[in-house]
Amino acid sequence: MFETYFLMKTNDVIEYAKQKIDFFENDADLECIEIGDGNLNYIFKVLDRKSGKSIVIKQSSETARISDQFKVSPDRNRIEYEILKIENDLAPGLVPKIYGYDPVMNCFVMEDLSDHVIMRKGLLERNIYPDFAEDISTFMVNTLLLTTDAVMDHKQKKMLVKNFINPDCCEITENLVYTEPFNDIFNRNDPFLPNLDFIRKELYEDEMLRLETAKMKFDFFQNAQCLIHGDLHTGSIFVKEHSTKIIDPEFAYFGPAGYDVGNVIANLVFAWANADTVIEDTDERTRMTNYLESMMQQSLDLFIKKWKALWESSVTETVAKYTGFKEWYLDGILRDTAGVTGLELCRRTVGIAHVKDLTSIEDPVKRIRAERVCLSMAKRCIFERERIRTGEDYLELLDWAARRHPRS
Ligand code: ADP
Ligand code: MG
Repeated sequence: MFETYFLMKTNDVIEYAKQKIDFFENDADLECIEIGDGNLNYIFKVLDRKSGKSIVIKQSSETARISDQFKVSPDRNRIEYEILKIENDLAPGLVPKIYGYDPVMNCFVMEDLSDHVIMRKGLLERNIYPDFAEDISTFMVNTLLLTTDAVMDHKQKKMLVKNFINPDCCEITENLVYTEPFNDIFNRNDPFLPNLDFIRKELYEDEMLRLETAKMKFDFFQNAQCLIHGDLHTGSIFVKEHSTKIIDPEFAYFGPAGYDVGNVIANLVFAWANADTVIEDTDERTRMTNYLESMMQQSLDLFIKKWKALWESSVTETVAKYTGFKEWYLDGILRDTAGVTGLELCRRTVGIAHVKDLTSIEDPVKRIRAERVCLSMAKRCIFERERIRTGEDYLELLDWAARRHPRS
C-alpha cells in the first residue's frame, strides 16, 4: 500500500501513519479526522488517544477541492513542504514544524496547531492578538529580504528560482487576482448582485484602472525578487494570544515582495470593514476597529523599520550598498504593496474566492456598505501606489472610504 498515489480517506491515513510515519508509539490508539476548510487540499489530523500526541497530514490532489475546474499540479505539495523548511530556518517559531514529505502520496506531515485558530475566524469572533504586527513583520522581513539578490549568492538564488517555479498556482493568481475582477466577461466572478451596478461602474468599466492592473500583472509575471508566500491572507495565519504561525505557502514562488505585504494589509481591511459595519455597540466597535487600525499601521511600519535594520546587517551584493540604493529598493516594494492591497481588496470582493468578513454579513445593506468601503479604498491604493508609503497613509485612505460610504 502507498506505493502509488491515491487520495486518502481517514482510515487510509491511520494506516499510513502506522506504516510510514515514525512519530507515534507502536501501541498507539490512532484516530483520524479530516479538518480541511481551504479551497485546495485535504487536511487530516491524526491523534493517539493514549498519549494525546497528534500530527497533521496535508495531501494534494490533481484538482482543487472547491472545483474540478482548477487543475493544479500536486507538485505544489513538494513546494509547500520545501518552503516550510526554508521558512523554519529564516523565521523560526513562526511556521509549523515539519516532520516529513512523501512524493508518491503527495503529502507532508507537520505539527498539529489545533490549539491555534485561523486568524480570520478569531477576528470575526472579536478576539485580538497583540503580537500579530510584531510577528508578521518579522516573518515578512526575514523570508522576503533574505531571499533577494541583495543578500543571497546569485547562483544559489537562481537555483531556488528554478526549484520553486510554480506555474499552476501562479496561473490561478494571475487570473483570479489580476484579470478577472476587472473583466465581467469571465463567468467565474461572483459579485454580490445587489452591488453589481457599483462593481460594474467602478471596476469593469474603469479603463484607467484596468490599465494599472495590467501594469501590475506584468510585475507579477516578471519580477523574481524574492521567495514570497504567495497567499498571505488571514486564512493562512494561525494565531493564539501570544503566538503566530504562518501556514499554507503552496502559492510560493520568486515574485514581488510587496505581494505578501499587500495581502496582509488588505485582509486587515476586510476585518475592519466587517467590524465597523456590523458591530452595533459603539465601545465594542471602537475597541475592534482601533485594534485593527493599529495592526495595519504597525504591520507596515515595523516591516519598514525591520527591513532597513536587517538590510544593514545582511546585504552582501556590492552595488546594493551604494548610497541611495536601499531607499530606492524599499520604495519599489512599498509601491507594489499599495497596488497589491488594492488588487486583493477587489478580487476577494468580486472574484470567486471570497472572504467570510464580507460574505458573513447577512443584512444586504450592510454588506453593500462593507464592500464599497473596500472597493473605494482599493482603487485609491492602485491609482496612488507611487505615493502611499506608511501605515498612516493606509489609515487615511480607509477613513476616507468609510466616510464616503457611511454606516447606515
Ligand atoms: P488549503 O491549502 O486547502 O487552503 P490550508 O493549509 O489552508 O489548506 O489548511 C486548511 C485548514 O486546515 C486550515 O484552515 C486549518 O483549519 C487546518 N489546518 C491546516 N494546517 C493545520 C495544522 N498544522 N494544524 C491544525 N490545523 C491545520
Ligand atoms: Mg490554502
